[in-house]
Amino acid sequence: MALTAVIDWDKCEGNGVCARVAAEIFSCDQEGNSDVILDEIPNELRAKAMLAMRQCPTKAITVTEA
Ligand code: SF4
Repeated sequence: MALTAVIDWDKCEGNGVCARVAAEIFSCDQEGNSDVILDEIPNELRAKAMLAMRQCPTKAITVTEA
């Protein structure tokens, strides 16, 4: 089953950790605007998605089963 990721922009502080940990899934530009670039996260990227969720310093990322 695929996963989806959501960023809570009220919590995100734009440090780009997610984009460094999982560049296939998250982006973060120079101004600190983060985004989810994959609508559905395939199984092979599951571990990276979970790692990014755990490593986000502000707990802004939620990853759930699609
Ligand atoms: S790791 Fe968290 S706080 Fe940092 S840019 Fe990504 S969502 Fe925002």
